[in-house]
Amino acid sequence: MGGAEHLAALLRESERAVVFTGAGISTESGIPDFRSPGGIWTQMAPIYFDDFVRSADMRREAWRRRFAMEEMFATVTPNAGHRAVAELMARGRLSHVITQNIDNLHQQSGVPADRVIELHGNTRCARCLDCGVRVELAPIRAHFEAHGDPPDCAGCGGLLKTATISFGQAMPEAEMVRAEAAALACDLFLVLGSSLVVYPAAGFPLLAKRNGARLVIVNREPTEQDPAADLVLHTGIGAALEAAVNAL
Ligand SMILES: [Zn+2]
Repeated sequence: MGGAEHLAALLRESERAVVFTGAGISTESGIPDFRSPGGIWTQMAPIYFDDFVRSADMRREAWRRRFAMEEMFATVTPNAGHRAVAELMARGRLSHVITQNIDNLHQQSGVPADRVIELHGNTRCARCLDCGVRVELAPIRAHFEAHGDPPDCAGCGGLLKTATISFGQAMPEAEMVRAEAAALACDLFLVLGSSLVVYPAAGFPLLAKRNGARLVIVNREPTEQDPAADLVLHTGIGAALEAAVNAL
């Protein structure tokens, strides 16, 4: 049995699967893996959350970097892997998509937003660090380009930051609780394109496995959790998942 057929068989036997995605699914859309060797964070030091809060210079630098990536984020589109995940959701085979990605591509591919659990937030909008209000990026960019500084929150004067979880920033509590509940409730946990090294997110596959779920890992490189998995595919995601969905 080939990998895609094996994956299709596991999906057929599952009634409530969870998909867990990392950078590897989005690199197939042309989004760089920021944490990979040669990725942005090995060439340019990341800005830690405390430094963002403490320093106006760091906030300017963070926003300069974000706007420099805007053309890339504005033009990327979901790929075959995202579409296959959306198809599984539409067919009622998935309860949730847990993602480490911040690019909004699962929602763009048609997965309902309330089924996407974003562990590292979303870079397509901003939030006030004090009152939590959501703010679109376009007016922040216009202010930044006109004044050289990002605006403060119009409502409370707090600091605006992309709605992502930065290095050194606490994990989002509600999302962690939802992800844990989804991992414990699923009967199949499908890892797509994560090297499973960033904790606590990387703890969810083994949590699901220990609770009786089957574990599938599709990732180009081996991961430390491969020995625990029922099926491991060291391939790209789009083609493998598309073939599996077609074989359902
Ligand atoms: Zn505010």
